[in-house]
Amino acid sequence: MKIGIIGAGASGVYLAIRVKEKNPSFDVTLIERNDKALKKVLVTGNGRCNYANLGELKGKYNNELANRLLEEFKPQDLVAQFDKYGIHPTYLDELVFPTSMSAQTVVLMLNKKIEELGIKVKLNESVIDYQNKDGKFFVQTNANQYVFDKLVISAGGKSYPQLGTDGALLDILRKKGYKIEALSPSLSPIKTKENTKRISGQRAKAKVSLYKDNKVIYEESGEVLFKDDGLSGIVILNMSSYINRLNDQKGLKLVLDLAPNAESIKQNQYYEYVAPKIAEYLVSNDLDIHRLSFTFKDFYDYKIAEVSHGGLSLSEINDSLKSKKEKGLFFTGEVLDIDGMCGGYNLMFAFASAEKVSKALGE
Ligand SMILES: Cc1cc2nc3c(=O)[nH]c(=O)nc-3n(C[C@H](O)[C@H](O)[C@H](O)COP(=O)(O)OP(=O)(O)OC[C@H]3O[C@@H](n4cnc5c(N)ncnc54)[C@H](O)[C@@H]3O)c2cc1C
Repeated sequence: MKIGIIGAGASGVYLAIRVKEKNPSFDVTLIERNDKALKKVLVTGNGRCNYANLGELKGKYNNELANRLLEEFKPQDLVAQFDKYGIHPTYLDELVFPTSMSAQTVVLMLNKKIEELGIKVKLNESVIDYQNKDGKFFVQTNANQYVFDKLVISAGGKSYPQLGTDGALLDILRKKGYKIEALSPSLSPIKTKENTKRISGQRAKAKVSLYKDNKVIYEESGEVLFKDDGLSGIVILNMSSYINRLNDQKGLKLVLDLAPNAESIKQNQYYEYVAPKIAEYLVSNDLDIHRLSFTFKDFYDYKIAEVSHGGLSLSEINDSLKSKKEKGLFFTGEVLDIDGMCGGYNLMFAFASAEKVSKALGE
C-alpha cells in the first residue's frame, strides 16, 4: 500500500509516523515544499511548542468535530504518545510543553522517528496538482510525479506563508469543485479605528469585553499589547478567533478595563494602576480607565496570524476525515475548516486529526 502525504508539518509528520508504526509494510511518503520538515512547529509557542491543553475543550474550537476527535484521542493520549517518542511533558497550568521548553526537541524527536521507521521525505518539492484515475492518485510536484494508492492532504492553512503555508492546496481543491469556506486570519492582532500610536509597545493587564449591539458577547482577561493601530496579546488573539466565528462582524467594540480589580478609580490615581505612558494617554484624552473603548476594524495580515479561519468545508468529509467525493483521499489539520483558540488547541487538533486518519488508512 503506497500512501502519499502532502505537507510535512505537524499533522502530516505525526500521521506518517502513526501509519507506519501500525502498518510497517506500508510505503509512506511525505512531500514538503520547505527544505526541512516541521518548520512551523519550531516557531510555535514562542519557540517552546505548546502542543496540548488538558483543560476545558468547550468553546475552544469553531466546530464540534474537533471536540469529538479529542474525545476519541484525548489530550492525555497525545501526551502519552509523545512521551514514548522522548518528548516528555511539562505543565504550565493546563498547557503542555516539552520538558526542555524547546520546540526543537519536538522537531528533533519526530524527525528521528521518521528516520527510524523508514518514512520517505521529499523536501523542496511543491505539489502543484493531483489527479485521481483508476483508483490511484497521481501527484504532480514542481520536480516529479508520484503514484499513490491513498492520498492525504496535510498542507495546512493560509497563515504564515513565509513558512510554506499559503493555501495553495485549497486553491487546487477549489478548482476540483470542493467547497472552501471563506478564509481569514485568526489568532491575529486586531486593527482598531482608534489610533494607539502614542502608547504603541506598552502592555497592560485588562479585562476585555467584546460588545455587539451594546451587549457583551465574549469576555476574557489577560495582557494586552498596544500597537500603532490596534491591539495584540493572547487575550486579543482569542478575541480574533471568536470574531471569526460571527456571521456579522459589523458594529463590534472591544472595551478594556485596565484596573479590573479596583472600583471607580479617579484620574489622579491612574498612575498607580497602569504604566505611566498609558496613564498619561488616558488622562490627556480624558479616557476612563475602566472603559477604554475600541472599534473593531480588521484583523492583521496572514503573515502574523497564527492560524487561518476557514478552509475545506466539513460538508466535504465524513467523520473519518475522508473525502465524500474522492475515494482514498483524506485530510488532516488546518487545511480543514477547524481552528482553535490559543493554548495548544491547534496543534492538539492537528495531531488528533492525524490519529483519526491513521486508523482509517489501516482499515
Ligand atoms: C507563530 C505561530 C505560533 C503558534 N503556536 C502554537 C502553539 O503554541 N500551540 C498550538 O497548538 N498551535 C500553535 N500554532 C498553530 C499551529 O502551528 C498550526 O495550527 C499547526 O501547525 C497546523 O498543522 P498542519 O499540519 O495542519 O499544518 P502545518 O504545520 O502548517 O504544515 C503544513 C505543511 O504543508 C506544507 N505545504 C503547504 N503547501 C504545500 C505544497 N503545495 N506542496 C508541498 N508542501 C506544502 C507546508 O510547507 C507545511 O510544512 C502556531 C502557529 C504560528 C504561526
